[in-house]
Amino acid sequence: MALLSFNVKDIPPEGTRIACVVGREELQLEENDPGIQDVLALTATLHAEEANVRVEGELNGLLLHECVRCLEEFATPAALSFRALYKDPSQRRSNRQEPDAVPGDSDSEETDCHLVVEQRIALQEMLRERLILSIPMQPLCSEGCQGLCQVCGQNLNVQRCGCQGVKAESPFASLQKAFKLSQKPLT
Ligand SMILES: [Zn+2]
Ligand SMILES: [Zn+2]
Repeated sequence: MALLSFNVKDIPPEGTRIACVVGREELQLEENDPGIQDVLALTATLHAEEANVRVEGELNGLLLHECVRCLEEFATPAALSFRALYKDPSQRRSNRQEPDAVPGDSDSEETDCHLVVEQRIALQEMLRERLILSIPMQPLCSEGCQGLCQVCGQNLNVQRCGCQGVKAESPFASLQKAFKLSQKPLT
């Protein structure tokens, strides 16, 4: 795990750049975490700012998702940028008003805050969170995915089945219908 853990003292004032590949183990991904295909390429720069460390970079590779309609696994290329600020709690100043975000800072997402622990920063938890945040709410293998037949379970992208009378939309379509019916006024 040493790969993604750095001693703050080793980070030169001008910053340092890292580039490596990381797999499930290095990222400490657990069973229910997002799937990745093989490994991801990690590039990042680390900048020490007094007792804090600013990390910016990108994770590149193929992420695995399960389609909500046909339940097949599919891979999509991803380029996940991240920026994080590691603060040393022992150096914390009393005013909590200190703004973290730099105003006018271009396109970027918000800066994540993490802690420097015993003079070290560990990137894996931050990267794992970034991966989890990247999962779409409704992953679809393709816009036109036909899903599974609700009667026989056939994957309709592969082959039609003989079942009739049931529209093969999402498995939730029938639930939604039921929900709408139950919302009708009772009077
Ligand atoms: Zn699908
Ligand atoms: Zn069927």
